[in-house]
Amino acid sequence: MSEKAQNIISYGRQWIDEDDIQAVVDVLRSDFLTQGPAVPGFEQTVAAHCRVANAVAVNSATSAMHIACLALDVGPGDSVWTSPNTFVASANCALYCGATVDFVDIDLLTYNLCAKHLAKKLAEAEGLGKLPKVVIPVHFAGTPCDMAAIRDLSHRYGFSVIEDASHAIGAHYNDSVTGDCRHSDITVFSFHPVKIITTAEGGIATTNSMELARKMQLLRSHGITREPAELKAPNVGPWYYEQQSLGFNYRMTDMQAALGASQMKRLQYFIECRQQLANRYDDLLANLPLTLPHRPGNIRSALHLYPVALHDASQRRRVFDALRAAGITANVHYIPVHTQPYYQAKGFKHGDFPHAEAYYAGAISLPLHPGMTNADQDRVVKAISEALR
Ligand SMILES: *Cc1c(COP(=O)(O)O)cnc(C)c1O
Repeated sequence: MSEKAQNIISYGRQWIDEDDIQAVVDVLRSDFLTQGPAVPGFEQTVAAHCRVANAVAVNSATSAMHIACLALDVGPGDSVWTSPNTFVASANCALYCGATVDFVDIDLLTYNLCAKHLAKKLAEAEGLGKLPKVVIPVHFAGTPCDMAAIRDLSHRYGFSVIEDASHAIGAHYNDSVTGDCRHSDITVFSFHPVKIITTAEGGIATTNSMELARKMQLLRSHGITREPAELKAPNVGPWYYEQQSLGFNYRMTDMQAALGASQMKRLQYFIECRQQLANRYDDLLANLPLTLPHRPGNIRSALHLYPVALHDASQRRRVFDALRAAGITANVHYIPVHTQPYYQAKGFKHGDFPHAEAYYAGAISLPLHPGMTNADQDRVVKAISEALR
């Protein structure tokens, strides 16, 4: 089918089926469009999958990270550390709260925040009295960070942990399901269309702490409560509510939640498709001058991305353009956050986090999403093989 052969193959995209569409249409015919019964239903579905006590759904992972920081009392004078190899939202959430941001360089096997670098930086920071309030490890490409090591450090140095698991719903680390918060205070997932499952826009924060969950529930909706037991003043009537903190309108809609709940039914299948494609890439690309993504034995990656690193970084632009010319929109993850002009203006410099910069220089994320066929994948392999010849 020559028409099919001309399709653009993008690095990631959603897979919506008729059940998903019906779930959204059902909400449109119901009484509730914004946060109604579908939101708690979706929260329960995600919490059950993650084996975690609470899940708080919001309109994006960015919003979830913001209210997660606020729930952990991040504010002016505090410092939050994250990976430079991430989307800017992982760092921006701390700035929203008036805190400062710093970064911990990555390890060159998984491209995740390196627990050894973290240990070293914490020891130095302790001497200077500048320990972070929160550390945000990012499960890059769907591969969980070394959470046991990070949790040990959090107990030793007294910081909280927010997992940015935007890439990683469905991942496992040892016998822990990502999102169970066994090694963290809060875990955040994103449901942007390129991620593992989608709600169009959307995110969720999971936690085993009732207190953190309640704080986040209030923050997502203006800091307002109607719960009789929570009211500070007398409850003067059924119309009465109280604003008790400075919250936001970060609510997820019932249409989004219904889509998410429907997508959750296919989470395992989506990951199996990604797994199969990744295994196939592993085989088909094995002899090219590329470093293929490493998958540690004690984890199951959700395989959001298939990032390859060119041995010769100077070829990256040429290879990227050759893929584009072949109708393949690869991508690059990530421009190190500290090299963004906004962060450079805060004093960060090129060279501050050399591993993240070295990895970025040769990085290309090849298309990987469950709707991709083997034929699509063969086209990608052919294009990159020719470009590297
Ligand atoms: C996508 C993404 C986010 C932001 O998610 P949104 O739902 O688009 O706000 C944050 N962190 C990482 C690592 C991401 O990939």
